[in-house]
Amino acid sequence: MRNDAIIIGGSFAGLSAAMQLARANRSVCVIDTGTPRNRFASASHGFFGLDGVAPYEMLATARAKVAAYPSVRFVDGAAVDAAADEDGFALTLADGQRLMARRIVLAFGLKDTLPAIPGVQDRWGKTVLHCPYCHGFEFLGQPLGVLSVLPHSTHQAALIPDWGPTTFFLNGGPMPDAETQARLAARQVTLEPAPIAALEGQAPKLDGVRLADGRLVPIAALYLTPRTSFQSDIANQLGCAMEDGPFGPVIKTDAAKQTSVPGVYAAGDISRPMHNATLASADGVMAGAGVHQSLVFPPAAAA
Ligand SMILES: Cc1cc2nc3c(=O)[nH]c(=O)nc-3n(C[C@H](O)[C@H](O)[C@H](O)COP(=O)(O)OP(=O)(O)OC[C@H]3O[C@@H](n4cnc5c(N)ncnc54)[C@H](O)[C@@H]3O)c2cc1C
Repeated sequence: MRNDAIIIGGSFAGLSAAMQLARANRSVCVIDTGTPRNRFASASHGFFGLDGVAPYEMLATARAKVAAYPSVRFVDGAAVDAAADEDGFALTLADGQRLMARRIVLAFGLKDTLPAIPGVQDRWGKTVLHCPYCHGFEFLGQPLGVLSVLPHSTHQAALIPDWGPTTFFLNGGPMPDAETQARLAARQVTLEPAPIAALEGQAPKLDGVRLADGRLVPIAALYLTPRTSFQSDIANQLGCAMEDGPFGPVIKTDAAKQTSVPGVYAAGDISRPMHNATLASADGVMAGAGVHQSLVFPPAAAA
């Protein structure tokens, strides 16, 4: 049987897309490997009405709501291969299962490449964090750090003083230019040029940053913007156009979240430069409605 849509990824973006299609009574299959990007955090913050709820709890509730609709099917497994066929798309899963659909929604999320500093991985999502809007209020007024990883790190260093007194760790990297130094000085950010040896404390608690010269800089949380990459290669297989984002590649989409490949939609972190569960969910709503309308209207007239 050919589904109206297959959704690759059953998290904030994918389940939101599935909900729109389910409520239009369209046949939809959601494939998911169960590794949402924020699984390292014990609580998710800022989501409308669900501030502070654990990520897996949010997703289990959302999945149950979607599963209550009769036209939806879930497959727990990995999509590994996708290609266009005469009526849409054919997909292969890791276990060899083949699925077909008229449309595909890519919602497979990102993975983070963390800097190879001892103690970073153990604390990811707890006291080593990517975003102060998601995990800043919990450390309000305490000494905080920002690690220089990407050009975007100076932007983060200028933001964080709203949550606590901030040290910007260059970790042996180049000094920012004079204009950036002046901007950081105006925000009372302390620059620390020395290379970092390790993070210290009983993980996930963070006591401070041990520098290679032996000094300890006490901080309660360290913010960093990791490089990102796609959790799946399927957008490349399908030939979707990409653009460079501040952290890694982004799949180009139009206002209805359709990619450069007709019939292939993308939603969530993979399709936007700013990453947040609410925005991923909103993308999913748009993609679900976009898919539905493309099934109703001939492509040239699709809204
Ligand atoms: C540590 C951390 C904490 C965060 N905290 C917050 C927060 O408090 N509040 C907030 O708003 N945002 C937070 N975020 C951001 C948030 O996690 C993302 O914006 C959000 O998860 C993006 O949703 P998504 O649906 O696009 O992708 P994801 O949530 O990453 O989901 C992608 C899904 O696709 C599945 N998948 C991947 N490959 C395949 C495949 N080949 N086949 C089938 N399934 C596949 C995965 O298993 C996963 O379920 C945090 C991020 C991090 C890294």
